[in-house]
Amino acid sequence: MKNFRRIGILTSGGDAPGMNAAVRAIARKARKQGVEAVGIIGGYAGLINEKLINLTSGAVSNVITKGGTFLYSDRCLEFKTEEGMAKAIETCKKNNIDAIIAIGGDGTFRGATDLAVHGIPTIGVTGTIDNDITATDYTVGFDTAMNTVVEILDKLRDTCESHARCNVVEVMGRDCGQIALKAGIAAGAMAVAIPEMPFNEEETIERIKSAKLKAKRGMLIVVSEGVFGTDENGNKVPYGELLQKKIEKETGIETKFARLAHIVRGGTPTLRDRLTASQMGIKAIDLILEGKSNLVVIEEDGKITSMDILFALTADRMYKNKLKEGDLDKFTPEQIEEMKALCEKRRAEIAELYDIINDIAL
Ligand code: ADP
Repeated sequence: MKNFRRIGILTSGGDAPGMNAAVRAIARKARKQGVEAVGIIGGYAGLINEKLINLTSGAVSNVITKGGTFLYSDRCLEFKTEEGMAKAIETCKKNNIDAIIAIGGDGTFRGATDLAVHGIPTIGVTGTIDNDITATDYTVGFDTAMNTVVEILDKLRDTCESHARCNVVEVMGRDCGQIALKAGIAAGAMAVAIPEMPFNEEETIERIKSAKLKAKRGMLIVVSEGVFGTDENGNKVPYGELLQKKIEKETGIETKFARLAHIVRGGTPTLRDRLTASQMGIKAIDLILEGKSNLVVIEEDGKITSMDILFALTADRMYKNKLKEGDLDKFTPEQIEEMKALCEKRRAEIAELYDIINDIAL
């Protein structure tokens, strides 16, 4: 075991319920191992500006039930510059921070690899409501976000049913449709539009018309924020609002649009998120104390394990068709095959779930 003095913990990028549970687990376990834990306030900006707090066991009391992140988060452009990185490294040196655990999404992990290159061992923990990190089956915050969406869809169902209305609901997820898809199935939506799958608009409208004939009153359609369409002026616009107008025009059913936006981010973390965050936090501190670096903690087939960050980020780009020239040069043909298999696994999971919507909609 390496001799660490202090471990820095930060939360960065979009906040996610459960981040606090991860910070708590890391801070408590670190102290049990005789290592001090320091909270970095406001993500990488806090590292640049030396905004630190001592995370004693008491400092993390009562945070496990809280949504958001009590360490705050930020999107910090300065961290991507040489000057910003130099200031961040200086803060680590000055404050005896020997390693950092960064909780966030893919952007956060890119920042973490930069820190590792500059000699600060780092481990990433997935914290994002979108579940959009290809490397892991699960990201902390996803379950709470899905449950929030289901709760809201259930409420909308009541009022749609009372007034014989349709409601198109846009939910967060960036370019990943998992929140929309899973919450849509669980709330009994008639159709779900996600970026990963082609959406059959005509069939959806036919489905609504036929449901109306069968005396169905309330109808819910879920659209992921990553789906776009083109308006009458040729501009790229969020698809949900376009679909709402089209449904109303073509079916004659009063149709409302709701954008849930950031509501989905907040709230008390569910058991799943608190538990997984605690497990991932413990795994992260264990890895750091074993002298490991440049890894991201993931969940794979129900087990908490880890993966090389660069491999994870590259597999992510491959899945999202965002590979840049030279991205694969650092990997062996076997590793590239492994990445392709991971992407296939994710695509198959989405396709299988997507079929469910079509199989059970009225
Ligand atoms: P998320 O982690 O949720 O994906 P962002 O993409 O906004 O969120 O990233 C969070 C922060 O991580 C950014 O504000 C920035 O400070 C840092 N970051 C993102 N991309 C990079 C990069 N390519 N190099 C260094 N730092 C980065």
